[in-house]
Amino acid sequence: MHSVLDFAHVLATRGLEAGDIAVDATTGNGHDTVALARAVGAEGQVFGIDVQADALDSTEDRLVDEGLEGPVTLLHAGHEHLADHLPSRVHGQVGAVMFNLGYLPGSASTLTTTPDTTIPALDAAMGVLRPGGVATVVLYTGHEGGADEAEAVDEWAAALPQEQFRALSYRFVNQRNDPPRLVAVEKRADGEAGTTDPAA
Ligand code: SAH
Repeated sequence: MHSVLDFAHVLATRGLEAGDIAVDATTGNGHDTVALARAVGAEGQVFGIDVQADALDSTEDRLVDEGLEGPVTLLHAGHEHLADHLPSRVHGQVGAVMFNLGYLPGSASTLTTTPDTTIPALDAAMGVLRPGGVATVVLYTGHEGGADEAEAVDEWAAALPQEQFRALSYRFVNQRNDPPRLVAVEKRADGEAGTTDPAA
């Protein structure tokens, strides 16, 4: 079985092709940014967003090490403003948006993501996705506020209209020490069957 982090990568990258556009909404140390940059290739474009300069520096170093900095634009901003920071030409064209919530691993900072900005950011992500595009959200419940944030994201995902989105939760149920969990959302392609289709 895929680990939660691997499955987030599988779901985020499976529909990406060379030349596509993707967003890492929490670059952190840059692991997701690297995976997205590989998936879209030199002709593609990745926007990496983080509120902490340390995270963006760490991501930049990782991209340079991997020779992948070309297609990546790093944005020092809150992801709740992501629609304002992405050029309007990419709105509705984004193939994948990845979120990895919580705090920056290895950092002295105690800053974590919080539901009051995470939920608006998820709404903004739904707006910029193309039909068939996927958003992944890795959740951590072990830190202060993490369980509340995970619950808020679960409720947000469960309330998405099924005519427009398919949402799933992926989690291991017998692991100790608060393992991470995944919520993933696919924006349905235009014309896909919705609730009114008896065959759905
Ligand atoms: N994906 C990373 C881990 C991300 S850690 C990895 O693989 O290593 C979570 C990141 O979210 C932190 O770097 C933190 O600075 C960032 N963050 C917190 N609040 C944010 C916000 N409102 N907008 C964008 N990034 C935020």
